[in-house]
Amino acid sequence: MEQNSLLNETPERFSLCLRVQEQLQDYIEGYLDSVAAEAVRAHLAVCVICQRNYDELRQTIRLIETLPFMSPGRDYSSAIRAAITPKTGTQWWKWRPPLRW
Ligand SMILES: [Zn+2]
Repeated sequence: MEQNSLLNETPERFSLCLRVQEQLQDYIEGYLDSVAAEAVRAHLAVCVICQRNYDELRQTIRLIETLPFMSPGRDYSSAIRAAITPKTGTQWWKWRPPLRW
């Protein structure tokens, strides 16, 4: 198993890496403002760890986007409702502890 090399970084670098990694998804999806995006881009240019996580996240997002959209069938909600509806006689609010244990 690969060791987390991020833990070997200095506290300042570790903190910066954590901040960048929290922003990676927003960076990929274009939700960061230009200043934040430039900060992430600059960090990725010099940090192998974050660059690798960026590549993996981008690849994962790309794979997810290739999945077909599946619409739930018509009877999907009724199946869920039937599964979560208490069966007769098992309604918890009617349950009482025995008088003697
Ligand atoms: Zn980093």
